[in-house]
Amino acid sequence: NVQLLRDPAFVAQLGRAAELKRLDFDANQLSEAFAERRRIVGLVDQTRARQKSLSNRFREADAETRSALRDQLGQISEESKGLAAQLSEAEEKLQNLALRAPSIPDPTAPVGVNDEDNEVIRHWGEPRKMSPDMADHVELARRLGLVEFDRAQKFAGSRSIALTGNGALVVRAVLAMAMDQLVIRNFRPVMPPVLVREEAMIGTGYFPLGVEDAYKADREDRYLVGTSEVSLVSLHRDELLALSDLPIRYAGVSSCFRREAGSHGRDTRGLYRVHQFDKVEQVSIIEADDELSRREQLALLENSETVLKALELPYRVAIACTGEMGQGQRLKYEVETWMPSRAAYSETHSCSSFGDFQSRRSNIKYRTADGGTAFAYTLNNTAVAAPRILIPLLEHHQQPDGAVRIPAALRPYLNGLETLSAKT
Ligand code: AMP
Repeated sequence: NVQLLRDPAFVAQLGRAAELKRLDFDANQLSEAFAERRRIVGLVDQTRARQKSLSNRFREADAETRSALRDQLGQISEESKGLAAQLSEAEEKLQNLALRAPSIPDPTAPVGVNDEDNEVIRHWGEPRKMSPDMADHVELARRLGLVEFDRAQKFAGSRSIALTGNGALVVRAVLAMAMDQLVIRNFRPVMPPVLVREEAMIGTGYFPLGVEDAYKADREDRYLVGTSEVSLVSLHRDELLALSDLPIRYAGVSSCFRREAGSHGRDTRGLYRVHQFDKVEQVSIIEADDELSRREQLALLENSETVLKALELPYRVAIACTGEMGQGQRLKYEVETWMPSRAAYSETHSCSSFGDFQSRRSNIKYRTADGGTAFAYTLNNTAVAAPRILIPLLEHHQQPDGAVRIPAALRPYLNGLETLSAKT
């Protein structure tokens, strides 16, 4: 909200938020851009008033005075053209800077630089250490015929895979199970567009800062989404919702596309970081209320934990420190699942609240009880993302004979299949 930029305390708070989130953003520059636009708007108003009064005088003047006034009017008209150009430049600058402004982190978020500063709040399940007789997921996937790595990369490039045989069926099962978990909780299932206009990427806060991570369909002037959250939030772009419409809860399922521009060379082996993956995503649009948002976030978190428990996978939950938060996130929980081959809990879910950051950018309002309007709050969380989830699923459930046990909750989605055994 640019009007707040009049308040030096707010500008200082923005600057501090950028520092905490380690964003390259100068709040003073934004405040100066705002002041500059106001200065030009002031000049435009003055010039307009002068022009009006001169025009009035002109109408009543005699021929001689008119010719002098005509010169002055011509001059003013030139001036206002120049000011109009200055104003549009100042507005563009202001807009560009404003789109880079962070949201203010929730005061309960731990202050820190990287994931080592996250605050772990609970563990579930017993992590399984990698032993010499255990295989990692790449080896298991190859042996069980679940994934084509080399063949896929040959024609699709690095970080590409093909899920094959039971690999495809298990991923389909995991997505379906996660979707059902949300549907029984009254989330509305959505298969949204994955190719969207720039305004949806800006509206949800992925652009301009994340532009390098998105694939652009050049001839279409559209972008592939990195998460269905972009589409689910954008479904209500430029809407004035009724109070009774809220909360809106969506369970989106889609492919997600990421250039992983900032990850060069990291996690190149296996299923951890690929360019295209599938994800069931939870998105909530709720009333602008911090307490409601906190409760909603915990509910979204619990849904993901339910999915991991159903998959019988050990995990832990951490509150992300400020340095790990994105531009718009106010409070973020990371759910990290134990991955034996990484000998670590690694991120499989992230659960964020945005306050009104996305709805201001996307112009999503609702009619409040007192008849006014307010920007809604938005939140999201992964329900499950594959193929990353195959890492713990295959490694943790592997058996001494090389087979992989299918957790009971997945079996109904796999025609009762109980184990994955060697490719026949
Ligand atoms: P994010 O939207 O970045 O919080 O990611 C949500 C989830 O999607 C992560 O926790 C992962 O499970 C999954 N994910 C994100 N990026 C990738 C990727 N490049 N490859 C595979 N899975 C990913």
